[in-house]
Amino acid sequence: MRSRFKKRFENIRVDLIPLQLFNTMTRRKEKFKPLKDREVKLFVCGVTTYSYVHLGHARTYSFYDTLVRFLRYLGYKVTYLQNVTDVGHLLDTGEDRIIKAAKEEKKHPMEVAQFYLKHWLEVMERLKILKPDLMPKATEHIKEIIEQVQALIKNGYAYITPEGNVYFEISKFKDYGKLSKNVPKELVAGARVEVKSDKKNQRDFALWIRAKPEHILKWESPFSLGFPGWHIEDTAIAIKYFGPQYDIHGGAIELAFPHHEAEIAQAEGATGIKPYVRYWVHTGILTIKGIKMSKSLGNIIQVNDALKKYSPETIRLWIASTHYRKPLDYNEKDLEVVKKKVEKISSTLVKIKENLDKAKIKKLVFSNQIEKLKKQFLQAMEDDVNTPLALTYFFKIISLVNKQIDEGKFSRKDLELANAVINELGQFFQIIPKLKEEKLSEEIIELIKKREAARKAGDFKTADEIRKRIRKEFDIILEDTKEGVKWRKAK
Ligand SMILES: [Zn+2]
Repeated sequence: MRSRFKKRFENIRVDLIPLQLFNTMTRRKEKFKPLKDREVKLFVCGVTTYSYVHLGHARTYSFYDTLVRFLRYLGYKVTYLQNVTDVGHLLDTGEDRIIKAAKEEKKHPMEVAQFYLKHWLEVMERLKILKPDLMPKATEHIKEIIEQVQALIKNGYAYITPEGNVYFEISKFKDYGKLSKNVPKELVAGARVEVKSDKKNQRDFALWIRAKPEHILKWESPFSLGFPGWHIEDTAIAIKYFGPQYDIHGGAIELAFPHHEAEIAQAEGATGIKPYVRYWVHTGILTIKGIKMSKSLGNIIQVNDALKKYSPETIRLWIASTHYRKPLDYNEKDLEVVKKKVEKISSTLVKIKENLDKAKIKKLVFSNQIEKLKKQFLQAMEDDVNTPLALTYFFKIISLVNKQIDEGKFSRKDLELANAVINELGQFFQIIPKLKEEKLSEEIIELIKKREAARKAGDFKTADEIRKRIRKEFDIILEDTKEGVKWRKAK
């Protein structure tokens, strides 16, 4: 029976539509075809280690977690790379974010970077987000960064100033703007121009910055004693691990300009190979009660604070309930609704467990319906990872199971299938709560010990009496197995 089920699922996979992904570069959904058959290289801009993880991060990295899990489910071998920006991510004032935090916290910048990286990893784990396969740090790739800057100077795309700064010369790279022309205007217009500098053109961006004497993080280079620009870290790292071209680049839409535009200019300028990235996949913005979350507005919500009110499963389900490209709003009304949905998943799984032995019907009753809903779920996922639509099918399965159990129309096999499918589909979003383990009371444990002793002594009459008593008084069924005594609830 079990193998027949397995076979049937495998057959379903065949008539799935191919995965479609929305590519910001072309502004349309495209059939996903990796460079190398069945292998996917995914780069997502990683953490800048200078402050606590907030809900915007939760949204972005939960989505890529879902994408990675789904690609692996489809049989792709995924290499997931997330860089760590531990130097060079400057504020509009020209200050390095990490050095500023270090001054405020009276610590060394590297200590600050380590602290927030550790915090990042802990929060991601709490949100049940898989750790990327590779998490290279910018400070450990200064050699690769310098080499890329040199390649850009050699190819005529960058220039060094008398002060020892190196800039990318935008007017030399004809394709500049090819990604951001597809990005909402307000996000491009909102990117501020830097203050007065030694650039040829205000739009040129820094590849290498000469360090001021008080600047702690600095390295020797052919250009000056300095540090890398933020954009160049990503391409130097990505090209080192993935080569000059790879499949998917992810990140929040706010990063499309100027950061991702700069990445394209650097990578294609340095290697001459186009396109640098085949699919640009961006997540939408996060708002708090309808207002964009930002430091200046003071409405940033840390993930750890949200986790005091809501479980990781609730936060993950809330994120997956909105399509990844649409704006997502954090408000308690929505979260409360989602919380109830998670409780529903939990109570359904408990109900399945409790009813497994109560099935009166032998043949399959509603397994076909579950298989159909599962197929619809997977089709929604393949259509640009349409998680809200997929979740409607997921909750249709939940409702169906409850209805069938309430009406007594189910076989054991139906329930086993339902349980397997709920767990299988729920894993993409990590929304399956851990069921509370039932514990035996001290009294029952004592009785089981007595029964064991009686059995060892050959007193099977007493042993049997105790077994009957446990069944009658506590509704617990004992089973003697090779691995010892097992127990389960009778009802
Ligand atoms: Zn980046």
